[in-house]
Amino acid sequence: MNKYTDGVLALGIDIGGTNAAFGAVDAEGRILCRGKISTADYATFPEFIAALHDAVAAACEAADIPLSAIGRIGVGAPCMNWETGNIEGAVNLPWPSPLKLTDELERLFGIPAAGENDANAAALGEMYYGAGRGKDNFIMITLGTGVGGAIICDGRLLHGKRGLAGELGHIPYRRGEDGRLCSCGRKGCLDAYVSARGVVETARQLLAESDRPSTLRRLENLDARAICEEAAAGDEIARDTFRLSGEILGEACADFTAFSSPEAFIFFGGVAGAFRHFKDAMTETFNKNLLWIYNDQVEFLQSQLPATDAAILGAAAVALSAIK
Ligand SMILES: [Zn+2]
Repeated sequence: MNKYTDGVLALGIDIGGTNAAFGAVDAEGRILCRGKISTADYATFPEFIAALHDAVAAACEAADIPLSAIGRIGVGAPCMNWETGNIEGAVNLPWPSPLKLTDELERLFGIPAAGENDANAAALGEMYYGAGRGKDNFIMITLGTGVGGAIICDGRLLHGKRGLAGELGHIPYRRGEDGRLCSCGRKGCLDAYVSARGVVETARQLLAESDRPSTLRRLENLDARAICEEAAAGDEIARDTFRLSGEILGEACADFTAFSSPEAFIFFGGVAGAFRHFKDAMTETFNKNLLWIYNDQVEFLQSQLPATDAAILGAAAVALSAIK
């Protein structure tokens, strides 16, 4: 007997520059089967889509899941236009834009498909399966190579014109000429201070400003992960780096609170792995800078999705959110 009702699972597909990873996800957020294919292996987009379909069918068969158990498809990808379902202008994919991704998936699988950019997909993943479960209002901050944001307000993801709402990493933390140069070409953005690159720059500044002993001085590759490890081992400069980063985030989050009155900020991404090293400073600075009408309403949480599964779960949540 078939143990899966038709249409009960969501297929989440995460399309990145090198791989497309997928998983069939149940209502509790369990990934029942998964797989991936390399985007570089296919000369044309139709060949890629056909191979993706075959890989999904093979993974389902291996796990004894009938393809009919999948009722909807969600995609997370950079440069995904949520209104058209097309990927537009993705420089890391080898085929010419626009890629009519959700249309092609619907044609091949015969079920509805929807897409979101990866930051928005991550927030939906948190809302359906992670730390945002049961919350209608929260702001997700991704602290990785860059700083991303997504806003869930009144139970819905805010898109704005062209789906670009929530680029919180590029809101200035410092205005004026002395702000750090950001990857976007402007000065003083939050991204330049609390992205992985920004945290390293803070550590370098602290090392240059003092002659305190620090293990960080002896590291060949000073990166955010190493600074996190040294903070855990008690290195003072590493700890100060995250204390400063926490103060910056606390100020920024106090400002962001006025946008949408969130009940939580949820932190995700590589630098968020250092959450316990910046949470106290962030909370203290947040409370100092917060407009009093928001007092005692906002909590700081770390993502509850395993890093290896977050992208697939986010994509599956896109399907749940967009397709009723
Ligand atoms: Zn910027």
